[in-house]
Amino acid sequence: MGDREIATVTPVHPVTPPKKVPKPRTAAERKVRLNGIFEELDQLFPEATCALQHKNAWQLLVATILSAQCTDERVNKVTPALFEKYPTIEDLANASQDELANDIRSTGFFNNKARSIIGAAQKVLSDYNGRVPRTMDELLSVPGAARKTANVVLGTAYGIASGVVVDTHVQRISRRLDLTRQDDPVKIEQDLMKTVPQDRWILFSHQVIHFGRQICIARKPRCASCPLDPLCYAKDKTLA
Ligand code: SF4
Repeated sequence: MGDREIATVTPVHPVTPPKKVPKPRTAAERKVRLNGIFEELDQLFPEATCALQHKNAWQLLVATILSAQCTDERVNKVTPALFEKYPTIEDLANASQDELANDIRSTGFFNNKARSIIGAAQKVLSDYNGRVPRTMDELLSVPGAARKTANVVLGTAYGIASGVVVDTHVQRISRRLDLTRQDDPVKIEQDLMKTVPQDRWILFSHQVIHFGRQICIARKPRCASCPLDPLCYAKDKTLA
């Protein structure tokens, strides 16, 4: 992946309490702060990319469907054998749903995921000539692909900046960093698309996902190891 692993166990600096971090008041101040956030993320994760292993857009689409409510690590354990057993889109379009569900059982929600994968394979074959489509509207017509999945596939497989991937990490951290005050992923994405320059959308999503896994974790963020501490006025900063 090329991401720098962060030594997070030992605190490296005292944490600035949220109330002592100045909130930006003007557009110019917000821009300076935002650029500071981008710079730190670039320092931490200059080459962040999707952690789901894949060899082409189709494999990435399947892996992303499997990653719902499941870790990328777990998905990466399942997909090599899966694509060996079903090497082509046709193989998955013609798969038995029960057998496929059993093959992907360890990723959870396996019946729904098997139905989505078979439906996606059939749709890609019937409507898109066996190629995973390259536009948001077309991808959203594929079973199992909502905006998050479509953004992952378009951004990572095709390099098309169609939006910002909003997973649980991006959702949490966008709120902590006051880049949005929304709860709904679609509305969060709309806010991020206004705030983050489009040429950063693909990288930014993956940087924040890595940041959420390593530093700004859900229950107890590692604020004393976080280079964004001077810019962060989140109420749930960990001061200990
Ligand atoms: S770890 Fe998260 S909550 Fe803590 S300072 Fe960094 S961005 Fe803020």
